Amino acid sequence: MEKYIYADNAATTRLDDDAFNAMKPYLLQEYGNASQPYSFSRNVKSAIKDARCTIAECINANEDEIFFTSGGTESDNWAIKGCNAAKGGTTITSAIEHHAILNACKDIEKDGCCVKYLKVDNEGKVHAQTLRDAITGDTSLVSIMFANNEIGTIQDIEELAKITHEKGANFHSDAVQALGHVKIDVKELGVDMLSASAHKFNGPKGVGFLYIKKGTEIARFISGGMQENGMRAGTENTAAIVGMAAALKKNCSVIDETEKKLHKLEEALIGGLRNNNIDFVRNGDDKRIPGNISLSFPGEDGEAILHRMDLNGIAISTGSACDSKNTNISHVLQAIGLDENLAHGTIRISLGKYNTQDDVEKIVAALTKIIK
Ligand code: PLP
Repeated sequence: MEKYIYADNAATTRLDDDAFNAMKPYLLQEYGNASQPYSFSRNVKSAIKDARCTIAECINANEDEIFFTSGGTESDNWAIKGCNAAKGGTTITSAIEHHAILNACKDIEKDGCCVKYLKVDNEGKVHAQTLRDAITGDTSLVSIMFANNEIGTIQDIEELAKITHEKGANFHSDAVQALGHVKIDVKELGVDMLSASAHKFNGPKGVGFLYIKKGTEIARFISGGMQENGMRAGTENTAAIVGMAAALKKNCSVIDETEKKLHKLEEALIGGLRNNNIDFVRNGDDKRIPGNISLSFPGEDGEAILHRMDLNGIAISTGSACDSKNTNISHVLQAIGLDENLAHGTIRISLGKYNTQDDVEKIVAALTKIIK
């Protein structure tokens, strides 16, 4: 049987072998509870500390600014709800955020808080002027994603954070799609909070972190014991935390090489489709997450393409997941104003570090057969 080609790395990634090996001892032998004072828990405690330091180093933070969570969704919810609980005021976000942000915002709106949703341009960019026009002295938090999960567009986070700080508000970025794929330095960016999820950078599922800059006003997210400095209670998932740190360190150590490799694969894929005279539009800005390829085929059905690709042994994603009552066009494709005919025919191919030139050739061949 031919190898199944996985090209949906924006949905999740394969666990890195080194991350898996780093995790194993904490699943089998070193299973002590990090909060216990006896010697059996000593290695566990120091593994969690080491993981925190490794992650902090990867993003140029201090170790006490890294708070482990169950993943991107929790980190996003914490940033939105925790800031709102601590400071009140208006929250500003964008129309193309992940549902972890959008639905957390809906929750605080139900509690009577005000949320403003910024428009984006046709490439999915939040313009600095759009934020300047919306932000007021009452704004307590601005949350703009680093890179979009559907179309890959990377925002100018540094500039948006600067505008936010000029008005005295806090800035959060959902960097779930970006961390481990592009360089992130929280000090250079000037963000106050940043969300991350291990399974998007070849770490295990169900673990992530929220970077919270020292001094940021935010309420605790989970009440209970004193884990995570009393801010997020619950016995630590040691193996997952260790695996997350190992995966992040490894991806960050080869980030330029991986980026180059993925750009080459992207070019081969786009070039291959063009050579085969396939009619398509590529979505997103030129500055996007390496490997993220959102394509719209006029008059086609993205979901049908997905299933036919699956029959060809290839996993991709549809670019128009049904997420509203009246339409099956995603909120992101609606926000960038994509023509309905194109939006319905949208797919997302997301290549990762394990994909090869051979994978890309097979993707091009299968897509060409399906579209023609
Ligand atoms: N934010 C973005 C941009 C994402 O792409 C995702 C996952 O798809 C999440 C948040 C949620 O992360 P998790 O799956 O770790 O809860």
